[in-house]
Amino acid sequence: MNTDEGIGSQSDMSSVICGSTRSSSVAVEDSEASSASEVLHDCQVHGHQLLYLNYKGLTKFPAQLLQENAYQHIKGIYLKRNLLQTLPTNLKTLTNLKELYLPSNKIIDLPDEIGKMRALMTLVLNHNLLTSLPSEIQHCSSLETLNLDKNFLKVLPRQITLLHRLEELSVTGNKLVYLPMDLGYCPSLQKVYADNNPYLKAIPFSLWSKTVGTYSCGTETICDSGLYAEFKEANMSAYIPHEIQSIRSKNSSPVSTLLEISYRYVNKQQGILKIESLPRSVREQAVTATAHCEFHGCSRQLFTGCYPHLLKHPITTLQQPNSTTFIGLCCSLKCLDLFSRFPLPL
Ligand SMILES: [Zn+2]
Repeated sequence: MNTDEGIGSQSDMSSVICGSTRSSSVAVEDSEASSASEVLHDCQVHGHQLLYLNYKGLTKFPAQLLQENAYQHIKGIYLKRNLLQTLPTNLKTLTNLKELYLPSNKIIDLPDEIGKMRALMTLVLNHNLLTSLPSEIQHCSSLETLNLDKNFLKVLPRQITLLHRLEELSVTGNKLVYLPMDLGYCPSLQKVYADNNPYLKAIPFSLWSKTVGTYSCGTETICDSGLYAEFKEANMSAYIPHEIQSIRSKNSSPVSTLLEISYRYVNKQQGILKIESLPRSVREQAVTATAHCEFHGCSRQLFTGCYPHLLKHPITTLQQPNSTTFIGLCCSLKCLDLFSRFPLPL
């Protein structure tokens, strides 16, 4: 989706949730005439499960929601078009909260504690000012829908692929330069919308069987800052992971990076090396693979994605005429060669 009218959000004129699959609980209508404190009072007295606080000019998340046990019953909070800049750290006290709608605020960042919201199924944050997403979001184990449209995200944390219930991810209109390479291995993920990310020049091969929106991606040419490297094969260029761009050139064969070899070794020897004694950052990198070798006969774990291979497969081009280039990843020159000749399972 690429508008600010996400699932369950409301149009400017309407104030009533109308989705047929929404909770059947009694909902209090959103009235611009009611003050936030009146709405909160009604919610508490009548036990409403859905709380509408859209268009209230709120600069902070209502503190009383978290201080009193009287709001434990709330399942959905709607805070469209307020002036929130962040969220409180103790949102987890709303233990039954399943849906949190925060479109069109001024949210700059999310507390790390966001991962403690274990019941949350829908998180809508489109039209905010986010430049990054905390990796702790991986612990929102019930999350099914995540909308981050129209923010300023350059990357998504790789840990997003650990959201086992995530079905739909929408990140249109950001500044993404790449997507996590193993995003497609998210077991429940079916839809990824990444339209209007002008710097996004490629999508991971792991997404090849999913619904992927990439309209208006890669429409701008970027060549400065050293983060990008021209990688021309069949007149295509793409983002190149930092660790390999210095060693990959048109006329040279790709070689394993020291980083990739190190992580492979640590991962393989983790029992002997006593991995818990390693620095946390190294430990995390070496334990969680970023991808697997795309040659279907191999599937070896990869940690830095050492051999990207660009291709425009006829099947994907047929399904999505505007699709961008896929990247296949291989663990060795041998696999890369085989993958080039047989890119899909036979
Ligand atoms: Zn391989």
